[in-house]
Amino acid sequence: MSSMTSGVVNGGVSFWFADDGLPAVRAPLEGDAVADVAIVGGGYTGLWTAYYLKKAIPFLRIIVLERKFCGYGASGRNGGWLYNGIAGRDRYARLHGHEAAVRLQRAMNATVDEVIRVAEAEGIDAGIHRGGVLEVARTPAQLARLKAFHEHELSFGEKDRELYGARETAERVRVADAVGSSWTPHGARLHPVRLVKGLAAAVEALGVTIHESTPVTEIRDKHAVTPYGTVRASYVLRCTEGFTAGLKGQRRTWLPMNSSMVVTEPLSEEQWETIGWAGRETLGDMAHAYMYAQRTPDGRIALGGRGVPYRFGSRTDNDGTTQAATVEALRALLVGFFPSLAGVRIEHAWSGVLGVPRDWCASVTLDRSSGLGWAGGYVGSGVATANLAARTLCDLVAMDSGQGGRTELTDLPWVGHKVRRWEPEPLRWLGVRGLYAAYRAADRREQSTYATGSSRLARVADKVAGR
Ligand SMILES: Cc1cc2nc3c(=O)[nH]c(=O)nc-3n(C[C@H](O)[C@H](O)[C@H](O)COP(=O)(O)OP(=O)(O)OC[C@H]3O[C@@H](n4cnc5c(N)ncnc54)[C@H](O)[C@@H]3O)c2cc1C
Repeated sequence: MSSMTSGVVNGGVSFWFADDGLPAVRAPLEGDAVADVAIVGGGYTGLWTAYYLKKAIPFLRIIVLERKFCGYGASGRNGGWLYNGIAGRDRYARLHGHEAAVRLQRAMNATVDEVIRVAEAEGIDAGIHRGGVLEVARTPAQLARLKAFHEHELSFGEKDRELYGARETAERVRVADAVGSSWTPHGARLHPVRLVKGLAAAVEALGVTIHESTPVTEIRDKHAVTPYGTVRASYVLRCTEGFTAGLKGQRRTWLPMNSSMVVTEPLSEEQWETIGWAGRETLGDMAHAYMYAQRTPDGRIALGGRGVPYRFGSRTDNDGTTQAATVEALRALLVGFFPSLAGVRIEHAWSGVLGVPRDWCASVTLDRSSGLGWAGGYVGSGVATANLAARTLCDLVAMDSGQGGRTELTDLPWVGHKVRRWEPEPLRWLGVRGLYAAYRAADRREQSTYATGSSRLARVADKVAGR
């Protein structure tokens, strides 16, 4: 490690937990139990699902089973971009028509408002600041992609999106070499752990039982099996996202992809003046191996991307520890964006896993005959999507149990989507490694040649990925 990254806290789940405190773990399941709904996984998907179900049908007995503690997964480690992106929208447009995908996009736009509304209503102080999302281009090839992306988003009904040139971009955030940017108001920055802790407390206050330190080893029709007992329930909902491969029979369902983050020490007023970023937009770029960043509630920069994307055999992580080389790469990326921060200290680094389906499409399903449901495969866009997925699962359960009918949500095109499984190893490992090597090479080529079009390498990689 260089002197700027030595002494970095690495892992410990995430900076967000270090900042807000690790929770006192709730009691595990003690013996067999019976419920109406068993929810496996205490991240945003599981907790939002419990929240909406209990609100909609108060007499339901709901048990959440969490392997470690609520927020241990991506929900306690993410970049805090609450925004309207959803993995798979374009494929859903091809499969179900443009109008269906526009409905999905509208539902996502409304989801950003919904999360902010409930956080307020439940008194959850999640450090939310609604500054929108700013995505910048730093090379001619990125600019061409940015313009195409901008037009494409407008075609899905985002009339309030704005396109900026170099000067207008700098007026918002002074990113080195930025030649343009696209901004949408449908986004907010938040503190991921404060949201997940607040949600768990809200759900408990409604009368939902949460058992932590309780790993589910197998999900069968109407049963969630743990080492301490089995929960029998009419509905068992799998909300395990990037950890799904660890469940019996699910090894090739969603590939666990790693993403890593770093956070700086708090910046001084002078440093912020040099950078700008008064609007606290969430900030991203148009590189193939893209980065994402936020200005944290306590005045730091948290930035993510890159890292070793996938471990052989779908292994997941070890309390969020990331590789020294990734910490260096993220620091270099930060300084590339903001050269004035060359001397800034990185305080904490961590990683987490997200779930990637074979066709990169998020989905929500309830199998009516078995009572098994699941939601996820959000790739890197799950902070808002998990809320929409949860409301959809809630409506599906209500409809199936005779407590409700079809709704706008149950008719969205991602409901009941089927996808093939990932290839067995070693093909899976070789494929994902090759894919990310191709994206990184494409970024380097675009930067060094100043080409104006996307590198052919990246286009080939997109095809191989099935995106
Ligand atoms: C580093 C990183 C940065 C990200 N940044 C963003 C971002 O800025 N914006 C965005 O929109 N998305 C982002 N994402 C994605 C987003 O965080 C996730 O999509 C979202 O949090 C998924 O929520 P979830 O509840 O479905 O899954 P998780 O939060 O992963 O929750 C799953 C839970 O299930 C538990 N579990 C797993 N297996 C079992 C089992 N067998 N038994 C019981 N419990 C089990 C886990 O311990 C975990 O708590 C990021 C992800 C990562 C990793």
